[in-house]
Parts: sequence; structure tokens; C-alpha cells
Amino acid sequence: MASGELKLRITNTLTRTKEDFVPLDPNNVGMYVCGPTVYDFAHIGNARPAIVFDVLFRLLRHVYGPEHVTYVRNITDVDDKINARAARDFPGLPLNEAIRKVTETTANQYQRDVTALGCLEPTVQPRATENIPEMIAMIGELQQRGHAYEADGEMLFDVGSMPDYGALSGRNLEENLAGARVEVSTHKKNPADFVLWKQSSPEEPGWESPWGRGRPGWHLECSAMSERYLGQMFDIHAGGLDLIFPHHENEIAQSRCAHGTPTMARYWMHNGFLQVEGQKMSKSLGNFITINELLETEKFGGLRWPGSVLRLAMLSTHYRQPIDFSVRSLEEAAIMLSYCATFGVVDSAIGPSAEFQEALLDDLNTPRAIAELHRLLKLARFGTQEMAKRMSRAGAMLREDDYLAAKQLAAGLLFLGIDTSTYDRDWMTKQASASRDTSHVQAAVAERLAALNAKDFKRADEIRAALLAEGIQLMDSKNEAGERVTKWEVKR
Ligand code: AMP
Ligand code: ZN
Repeated sequence: MASGELKLRITNTLTRTKEDFVPLDPNNVGMYVCGPTVYDFAHIGNARPAIVFDVLFRLLRHVYGPEHVTYVRNITDVDDKINARAARDFPGLPLNEAIRKVTETTANQYQRDVTALGCLEPTVQPRATENIPEMIAMIGELQQRGHAYEADGEMLFDVGSMPDYGALSGRNLEENLAGARVEVSTHKKNPADFVLWKQSSPEEPGWESPWGRGRPGWHLECSAMSERYLGQMFDIHAGGLDLIFPHHENEIAQSRCAHGTPTMARYWMHNGFLQVEGQKMSKSLGNFITINELLETEKFGGLRWPGSVLRLAMLSTHYRQPIDFSVRSLEEAAIMLSYCATFGVVDSAIGPSAEFQEALLDDLNTPRAIAELHRLLKLARFGTQEMAKRMSRAGAMLREDDYLAAKQLAAGLLFLGIDTSTYDRDWMTKQASASRDTSHVQAAVAERLAALNAKDFKRADEIRAALLAEGIQLMDSKNEAGERVTKWEVKR
């Protein structure tokens, strides 16, 4: 399809408006999505940007042609959380070997997870540790242009040297002073100044640089790698809402100041949070379930969910809105998929319907696109059932329109990365008849009761949050003897 006919609109965080998407080069589009820090399993909140921007990647490939879209998603393999994990998990090994083990295993796991969720491989997946010379060069440029300074052995970015610092997040420097994620330290000219390069101790990972043996600050890698693969200015940069400040703000500061350019990426897109009971799913709150647990264990709602079910459930909410995660949302997606697999007909000659495409082109409106799939499903289902009735009487054929609906339905799902022809319609019944192991829930409930009786409310709350993330709701009461008792059920 010629790109002229398909007009994509994107809500741009930078301008806070929905805009027509116009790429810098009309024939080639570049997008950069901040990828995982590889120290542990990714949770299903982390799956959201992977899925949402995979749909964007597919849409861009459809509009501009598969060879004309470059999708870069980085792998952060230098980070203090990685060092800590390596020391904890492999105490006998030299730190650099332990780090390599942690990053290799975690990056491979991430790849398996997102593949199971139906995500295409990005065009490039650069690693921070393979782009250190580019980062060192960038600090050199910042220093030359008067945007970086050395203090206490660190190279810092001087936010005061950039008049419009804060434009993406809409923060001014006074507000930054109170910013929760900005560490306050005395050696900085301004509390919002951030680290470009810091010294490493002999056992920490480090690279030689004009500022001594050290390692880069987190923000720097994305500025260096996006330049390497997409250029100094490029089209789309994306990630979760939490990255707007300080990560993306600081990426913009580094890139623009190093290159003297008016913009870094022209369109910034941010997905909303996946939440549990109104709280962001995150490692630090303990309310998370990993992608691996959802797909490979029965920890969430007592079932091993297929990746396509999570994918459809995730896309049923617009990417900018928060999602409250529940077993119910997965069940709804599973029911829809099982009908689609029954009545959808894959036919490579028929693409998705016009309404479906328009919905996606309108700022990736996946709920509207899925509503269109529901409409097609009704037509296909009704048509197929009618046909079955008539076939037994007069051998009549399925009406042309209903048959088209069946094909457009399957084509739409395939466009979203879900192939109904390989979907096992009966997975839920098969699993439901197999026995379920709930011993870990019972053990956790018992541990929590013991914690409550010992007045360790912090531990009790942690266990409660972890079970809730698995879709397990606890109900406390007292028995006749006045002792605490806890019942549990799978929350719908
Ligand atoms: P992190 O490894 O924490 O940097 O996260 C990787 C990506 O997942 C980033 O784009 C985050 O913004 C995103 N992310 C983290 N937690 C959530 C969540 N609960 N819901 C949606 N996106 C998230
Ligand atoms: Zn980034």
C-alpha cells in the first residue's frame, strides 16, 4: 500500500498534542525504544512497551514497507543492579565473569519471553557495553561545547548550560530540585545535573577514558546508540511513562547539546502503567509477576496462559491509559481468541478491514481496532452458523460478505501479531482437567499468618502484594477461638 493513502497520527509527549506523523526521510523511518536492564526476569509491566511498540513497528512496516523501517531496542548490560546481582548469584567467580553470566542469561530469557508474546525482533538490539567508545566520544563533545564538567571524579552534565532543559517533562529547574528520582549531592552545580561518567573501583566493570577508568551513566547509552543507528535526529522515541523524567529528558539534553541540534527525536511516545489494584507493577513494590511465570507456571489464576492471550488482553486498552491487570481480562481475551480461531479464516490475499487500519493509524487505537474485530467475528460466526444450517437443507454457500468478514478477522489479528491458525482453542479445558498445585499459595498464607502473629506487618503486606500480583485475593477473619484465619480465592 502506498504511504500516501495511510496517514498515521501520534500523540507526541513533546508537544502534548496528537500530530500527523511526518518522517524526516519520507522513505525511511527510524524508531528507538528503551529496552530492558538485564539483571532479572522481566515482569508483565515490562511486556507492555515491548508489545505496544511492536504493534507500532508492524504498522510502520505496513505503511512504509518492511525494509524501510529501522527499529532499535537497546539492552542495558552495564548497571549497578547487574553488579549487585552478579556478586550475589556467583560469589565464587571474578565479577566480570559473573556479570557476563547474569547479562547473557537474562538477555536470552528476555528474548524468549517477548518472542512468546508475538513480538518481532527489532532491526538492531545494541548492547551498552558494545558502544562505550561512542559514549566516551559524546562526553568529549559535551565537554568541548561547555555542557559537561568534572567534580569529585565524576563527569556531570550541566543542566544550567541548556536554556530549554525540561521541555519534554514540562519541569523547570526549581521543580527538579524536589524531583523524587534526582539524588541530591553537594558536588553538583545544580541538583538536576546528572552523571555522564563515573569512576570504577578495580573490581567494578570499567573502561579507560580521558576521565579515568570508569563506566557510563545510564542515560548516555541511549543517546550514543540512537545516534549510531538512527542519526543525530530521528523520528520516534518511545518507552514507558516513568522514563519521561529523568531518563528521556536527559537523553534529549545530551544529544542536542553534543550535536548542537534543535531536536533529538521528533515524536515521543509513552505507554501507561500496568497496575495491580491501582499501583504500578514494579520490582520494588514486590507486586509483580514475571512474563515467564505467566506463561510457564500456574501462578497466575491457576493457569499457564498462552502469550497471545496476554497480548490481546494488553492491547484491549489504549497504550496511553493505565491497565488494571486481572485474571478476568485474560479470560475475556482467551474467549475471544477461541471464537476467532473457530470462525476466522486466514487468507494471505485478504488484508485487515479499512476500519481496523484506520483505528490503528489513529494513534494506535487498539481498543477501537479490537471492537472492529468483534464486529467481524459476529458476522463470521453468524454466517458460518447460517451456512451450516442451510448446507444441511439446500447446500447453500456462505454469503460473500460473511466470508470476507471471517478473512478480515483473521487478517486483523495477524496484523496485531496473533496467528489464529496456530492457536489451540482447547488449551483452557486441557489445563483445567489437569491437577493444579496450590501448595505454594498455602505455604505463603501460612508464612503471612506467622508474620502477622509476630506483628511483622511489613513482611505480611509483602506476601499479600505478591499473592495479589498472582491474582490471589486473601480474606482475613477470626475463628471462634479468636485466632486469625485466612481464606484465599482466585480473583476475577
Ligand atoms: P525497566 O527495566 O524498569 O527500565 O523497564 C523497561 C521498560 O518497561 C520501560 O520502558 C518502562 O517504562 C516499562 N515499564 C516498567 N514498569 C511498567 C509497568 N508497570 N507498566 C508499563 N510499563 C512499565
Ligand atoms: Zn533509553
